[in-house]
Amino acid sequence: MTALTVAIDGSAGSGKSSVSRGVAARLGMRYLDTGAMYRAFTLWLLRNDIDVADVPAVVAHLEGPDIVTTTDPEAPAVALATEDVSLEIRSPAVTAAVSAVSAIPQVRRRLVELQRQAVRDALASGRGIIVEGRDIGTVVLPDADVKVFLMADPAVRAQRRAAEDTARGQQVGVAETQADLARRDAADSDRTVSPLTQADDAVVVDATYADLESVIATVQALVVERSR
Ligand code: C5P
Repeated sequence: MTALTVAIDGSAGSGKSSVSRGVAARLGMRYLDTGAMYRAFTLWLLRNDIDVADVPAVVAHLEGPDIVTTTDPEAPAVALATEDVSLEIRSPAVTAAVSAVSAIPQVRRRLVELQRQAVRDALASGRGIIVEGRDIGTVVLPDADVKVFLMADPAVRAQRRAAEDTARGQQVGVAETQADLARRDAADSDRTVSPLTQADDAVVVDATYADLESVIATVQALVVERSR
């Protein structure tokens, strides 16, 4: 299959990661979780006692963390230098702080550079790549071959996210999870730089009533169709 770039955007808990990983694994493509990069940077700030609301302090440390992401859909991981922080970036503390960090334009510029580098590396190795986030089809890869905007009803997203958190050993109720998703969606949609928006040329996929398998099949079909 031709090496394609695929952008998958959507709000928190819409199922972007599971869908993106599933399609990438089936089509032998690479996979990049850009949210994990914003989370890893946020974790590094918290660990170093840098106030995420203090924009000049955050900007002064743009080069502080060495954020390393793997692009294997079977084993996605993010590290701070050599320390795998894939689990810790999902902690409530990071989740609560990440939207403030991702709203800072200089942070975005820095991480978008790393994201585009990962895309170039994948293409240079002859593989396509599926990149998931909030601004992939609009800003990171405006020329992506396929753009998908994934949607799901807020109550359904909260149920799925709460189940994932429980599986990771974090017990958070569905109502609390729904409130957290709504808060993050509002922050990510209302920021001035690269807000969560649907690209004009994105295909909207509604995952509210569809199970994971059928959403993967839908997106896979879009990618295969485009590669012909
Ligand atoms: O995808 P996930 O929910 O893990 O992303 C965590 C946070 O990272 C989002 O709430 C958002 O603030 C930020 N993010 C972003 N742009 C992206 C991906 C994630 O601003 N492309």
